[in-house]
Amino acid sequence: MLIEDIVELKTGFTFDDVYLVPKRSSIKSRRNVDTTTSLTKNIALSTPIVSANMDTVTEGTMSVTMAREGGIGIIHRFLPVEEQVSEVIKVKRIESVIIENPYTLPQNKTLKEAKEFMEAKGVKGILVTENGKLLGILTGRDTMFEDNLDRKISDLMTPRKQLVVGKPGLSIEEAKKILRENRVEKLPIVDKNWKLRGLITSKDIKNRSLYPHSTKDPKGRLMVGAAIGVRGDYIKRAEALLKAGVDVLVLDIAHGHSDNAINALRSVKKEFGDVDVIAGNVATREGVEDLASAGADAVKVGVGSGSICITRIVTGCGVPQLSAIFDCSEAGKELNVPIIADGGIRTSGDITKALAAGASTVMIGSLLGGTEESPGFTVIRNGAKYKITRGMASLGASMGRAERDKKSEEDLREAVPEGVEGIVPYRGYAREVLYQLVGGLRSGMSYCGATTLKELREKAEFEKITSASQKEGLPHDITLIK
Ligand code: 5GP
Repeated sequence: MLIEDIVELKTGFTFDDVYLVPKRSSIKSRRNVDTTTSLTKNIALSTPIVSANMDTVTEGTMSVTMAREGGIGIIHRFLPVEEQVSEVIKVKRIESVIIENPYTLPQNKTLKEAKEFMEAKGVKGILVTENGKLLGILTGRDTMFEDNLDRKISDLMTPRKQLVVGKPGLSIEEAKKILRENRVEKLPIVDKNWKLRGLITSKDIKNRSLYPHSTKDPKGRLMVGAAIGVRGDYIKRAEALLKAGVDVLVLDIAHGHSDNAINALRSVKKEFGDVDVIAGNVATREGVEDLASAGADAVKVGVGSGSICITRIVTGCGVPQLSAIFDCSEAGKELNVPIIADGGIRTSGDITKALAAGASTVMIGSLLGGTEESPGFTVIRNGAKYKITRGMASLGASMGRAERDKKSEEDLREAVPEGVEGIVPYRGYAREVLYQLVGGLRSGMSYCGATTLKELREKAEFEKITSASQKEGLPHDITLIK
């Protein structure tokens, strides 16, 4: 590179460098804007927010909330395959029109064993079967005052002759009527030979109306994604996740514009043609083009933008996030590949800017790491509650992995961390945080005169700001109480 080239260098922008210019709006209420978007080529979301595949952010519990609120969670990959699979199953089982393979136990188990099993699976009742045929059901009502934990299930369960059951093919409306008329909460579905075909619960039916915008698969189950790596057991992991019903895979690699990532993407697409795969992370138009031509169904954009990330300090590399979103979205639009803006989202205003710049969704890490649903530990500091959050390339995360994979201290000494660990304020339930974030986005769309995200992208006019204008945009000349 020559000195003249340095003078000609292009400037990179991020969220704090710009504001969106308000436009005439005919929108009467922010409720009237539509935030529907595409996560991938084949998956639509009604809320353009994805929770990050980080071990202090997204496992099953977070994914359930994300999907119920119309977004989606991506379960991180720093778990043994079977544990990651069981987090996926947790989400897939929580709500469905009909649970196809309900948990069952044989009748010779004890009450103690049944209680332990139900606790582990997070259910309040259990179907009792023999050779796939329904014998009865054991619920809280059957065991309420029972102190003898050694009693057999067969003595305590409500036997099938006293059960209300449904036939295969029953509609939701019919099931609702049966549950209501008989005042029962669980409706096992059996064929004429008492073979168990599924289970419908009143809780699932209630949830359908509580979360009308939730992200669901064609079977009525909540949708969930899961991350895989690009080396080692990644194909086996993908296979196990797909068997468990995962809806989308995320190829998780810091430098996604690399031969490793491209080859892994090709292998996954070749092996499992039908599944949507999100690839990344990249920060340039060329990155999007290469991943798109290797088969990516969406591309994750962001190098060095995350709150817990020190890539730019350690390596000197990265692209300011708003510029990266602009460039990558242009390519994404031409190639019909949705862009996920990953990292650096601190406020709802950042979300509006990211989507106005062309992203279809945003991925959020630490901002959701402080919520009840995240797997991070809770700590108290000076009387206030915080949760631990950490970069997946931090030393702490590497130490955890080394312990799990029985690696030596020697291996760890070779680590060059590109992430940090820290604490974030406890923020309550993710649902409340999401409500604020989406509310801010809706208002932002209304300021831009946009009723849809497509219109937001078309109408958006960004203005570059100075540090003085940025100061003006913050609370000033008052002492903040909260
Ligand atoms: P946040 O929303 O917290 O600002 O950013 C979350 C994103 O940061 C993640 O989705 C991921 O792309 C990125 N990230 C997570 N851990 C690390 C890390 O250790 N190093 C770097 N460079 N990026 C990370």
